[in-house]
Amino acid sequence: MEEEAVVESRIAPPALSCPKCSSLLPSDLGVLTCSICSSKVKVEHPVTRRNWNDEKVGCPECSKVLIVGVDKRPAHLQCVSCSTHFTVAKNVPRTEVACPGCDRRLRMKIKPGEREIDCPACSTSFKVKF
Ligand SMILES: [Zn+2]
Ligand SMILES: [Zn+2]
Ligand SMILES: [Zn+2]
Repeated sequence: MEEEAVVESRIAPPALSCPKCSSLLPSDLGVLTCSICSSKVKVEHPVTRRNWNDEKVGCPECSKVLIVGVDKRPAHLQCVSCSTHFTVAKNVPRTEVACPGCDRRLRMKIKPGEREIDCPACSTSFKVKF
């Protein structure tokens, strides 16, 4: 089977914290499971759903701009112009964190919980928590 191309959605649902343990919840809608305390939290956000439905993405093959027309992510699309199938994946929130050793700004994906980072510039290890 051919591997489908993936385009990342530019629209992220609101960043919410778990009502039980106040950790950051996964960036999604529907019934989310807190990765720290395993609570199930129902999150709905009609504005995000509408924006997902109306989002425009470029076909990875021919660059034609398409309207996704699906109110969830990931969404599977077929280009009307070149018939390529591709997936519009969830947006992965990213942030910049300054290394305490050399002040270099490191760009990373936001994932709930604590993570240990090794700075690629000065090898300082430090922890970040989202
Ligand atoms: Zn929690
Ligand atoms: Zn195309
Ligand atoms: Zn550093």
